[in-house]
Amino acid sequence: MKRSKFLKLKLREVSFISRALLSTKHPVLAHIIPMRRCNLACGYCNEYDKVSDPVPLDVMKRRLDKLAELGTSVVTISGGEPLMHPELDDIIRRIRSHRMIAGLISNGYYFTPERIKRLNDAGLEYLQISIDNVAPDAVSKKSLKNLDKKLQHLAEHANFHVNINSVIGGGIKTPEDALVIARRAVELGFSSTVGVIHDNDGTLKPLTEREKEIFQQVKKLGNRDHARLNWFQDSIADGKPYEWRCRAGARYLYICEDGLVHWCSQQRGTPGIPLEEYTMKDFEREYNTEKWCAPTCTLQCVHQVGILDNWRHPQQTSSGTHSASGEKESVGQMVGAD
Ligand code: SF4
Ligand code: SF4
Repeated sequence: MKRSKFLKLKLREVSFISRALLSTKHPVLAHIIPMRRCNLACGYCNEYDKVSDPVPLDVMKRRLDKLAELGTSVVTISGGEPLMHPELDDIIRRIRSHRMIAGLISNGYYFTPERIKRLNDAGLEYLQISIDNVAPDAVSKKSLKNLDKKLQHLAEHANFHVNINSVIGGGIKTPEDALVIARRAVELGFSSTVGVIHDNDGTLKPLTEREKEIFQQVKKLGNRDHARLNWFQDSIADGKPYEWRCRAGARYLYICEDGLVHWCSQQRGTPGIPLEEYTMKDFEREYNTEKWCAPTCTLQCVHQVGILDNWRHPQQTSSGTHSASGEKESVGQMVGAD
């Protein structure tokens, strides 16, 4: 990313953070899904299908206009695989036309030099790619081996910030992979983050000593801002629940392909209100609702948004929003979500 663009982006971030600290009346981050379809089929994922059509551009534009009207600071496009949407560049342009920060989460498979240049032209500012392993296996093909060439293209051509996320815990076979992935990310000039995940049955178990060691090494290599913001991960790594105030449905919004607002990718259906009908009354209700799933949640971006308001406005429990089964997220769901 060019230095001038990087500095401008940092200034905008500071201004958005100041605005978020001064006022609680707008969303800070929205994830929006323009396409549920994906070219991959990771064994743990509950966020893709193989059949859905792209959301039409005019519908996406209306949704983005509504997010801007609500005062949203950052919009991150997610999926499925968003690069399969034929008009992704126009979606990014619409986000930028409202002066919102434009981010993208992708599995990385479509990054040719030409495609990267088009994303530069559209005004993309952030990209995150999650890499699950060094060599592909039956569960995930999001592997360093398959993606390294794409990462090299990004290092050469991207005029946007690139972050590579790896994962640890949850019984992942080779924890050392996270370190190999993080080292490669740093070598190519990207930032790197690491997600701590639950065990296969969704229970909160401490990382093994070896996993903890690698976790600390990867954190040291990685994005220092991110490490500062993600101290909840130390509790999760120790197998302990973490007390925080999740502001999903308010400061953080998840907009699915049908245009409904949900708490997050893992709590789809709640509240499930069409974005076009979403009002500040909905925003305030969700802002003040304690989330039953918060103590074991590992969704990094929602935690980071929560920090802005963690010190103010205690929340009330709403029995109506508690999962009937009390089920926690599965390891796969959490990997897919971040
Ligand atoms: S985790 Fe990402 S790449 Fe894998 S199937 Fe799900 S949406 Fe596709
Ligand atoms: S899973 Fe996490 S982000 Fe989603 S509603 Fe629960 S606490 Fe919030």
